Amino acid sequence: MNAYGIVIHQNMIQNTVETDVKEAAGLFNTTLVIYVVILGIIPSLLLLKVKLEFGSIKQEIWQKLKLWAIILVSIVALIAPLTADYASFFRNNKNIRQMANPANFIYASISYASASNKSIHVKAIGEDAKLNPKAATHSKPTLFVLVVGETARADHFSINGYNKPTTPLIAQQDIINYRNVFSCGTETAVSVPCMFSNLTRDKYSDKKAKSQEGLLDILKRSGYSVLWRDNNSSCKGTCDRVDYEPMKDLKISAYCNDRECFDNILLHEIDSKISAMNGNKVIVLHPKGSHGPDYYNRYPENMEVFKPVCKVNKLQDCTSEEINNAFDNTIHMTDQFLNNTIEWLKTQSTNYNTAMIYLSDHGESLGENNLYLHGMPYLIAPNEQKHVPFFFWFSRGFEQENSINRQCLSDQTNTEYSHDNLFHTTLGLLNVDTGLYKPELDMTSQCRK
Ligand SMILES: [Zn+2]
Repeated sequence: MNAYGIVIHQNMIQNTVETDVKEAAGLFNTTLVIYVVILGIIPSLLLLKVKLEFGSIKQEIWQKLKLWAIILVSIVALIAPLTADYASFFRNNKNIRQMANPANFIYASISYASASNKSIHVKAIGEDAKLNPKAATHSKPTLFVLVVGETARADHFSINGYNKPTTPLIAQQDIINYRNVFSCGTETAVSVPCMFSNLTRDKYSDKKAKSQEGLLDILKRSGYSVLWRDNNSSCKGTCDRVDYEPMKDLKISAYCNDRECFDNILLHEIDSKISAMNGNKVIVLHPKGSHGPDYYNRYPENMEVFKPVCKVNKLQDCTSEEINNAFDNTIHMTDQFLNNTIEWLKTQSTNYNTAMIYLSDHGESLGENNLYLHGMPYLIAPNEQKHVPFFFWFSRGFEQENSINRQCLSDQTNTEYSHDNLFHTTLGLLNVDTGLYKPELDMTSQCRK
């Protein structure tokens, strides 16, 4: 909390439970050790040495009542003259209770435990899902790639007007880029399940999303072969019933150093992978993107184009310029990975109608207002954590056979959209008919015949 300005709410406890060694190691540093030793271990040892002497139960109760009475009287005496100030303070700072440590940490842990304690039965949804007649007119099968980005901030993409050339390669591609897209959550554990769910952000809860199927189940039911390739922590339950490949475990030297594997590993031997799949295909790629605080670990040395760079995970020890440079290098790396993915799709376009969507799960604070990383409660989270990149890339074949009017889409790229749109836009683009589909949430419904 001191280092990154975060609060320990229920979702942060969930992040803690769902993390992995690599992600946790990225937050580990000597300051943390000093904090734990001086504020945790030494006081605990001193406390161990204190001999407690208890009186009789009667005496103890009397003692405690006296103490509580004094405390209550003091509280009332202190607050009474300032009631109006306090009332407006708490009204204007609703999140303040979430900053009270350790009380909130205990409350958040209990809420998380009681929410996740019940065994969840996954309910089938969209059981009527099937391909519509338009799909039957296609001359080629569909190959659709969905890239679920990590921690990418829209305003740090030069295609969105950022002043450093972070995305020179995708700028050359024929993409349709949306500039006003907002995430469902401010952390992976919320955003990823939410974007694959038909629940909109105002209706979303972790429990609801986990107790029903999602987008990938419906695509599979309508006949798509679905594969999730992961270089991140996991798919957060969204790919439980489709094929899953944890790429970072492969440790292929062409893509990995001794610490970790870079995102291009997601394209490793992908040709042979897709030729083993049947019919229409959907591939979800889940890169590690810009995950912090150790941004400098997300790209190989020769991809360090913006310098000087923050090379520690104690971000407060770096200048704002160093932090931004390190983060911008991760976006520059993502630009290369996305460009490679598009170039690969082009090589497949003789055999398939190919298309791609890229969007990020949430953004990142880089020290604005002393906030770092992400995961702030949504209502008080700054736009840096919620404003995410989003673009389409379509091959000519995909565009023509689905009667997509590119100009019509380009005219709407400044409209405000959110993760709520992904579910319905994907069903629309992939010609899936189901009662769950809402054309008003499909970003392309106005622009397809
Ligand atoms: Zn994330």
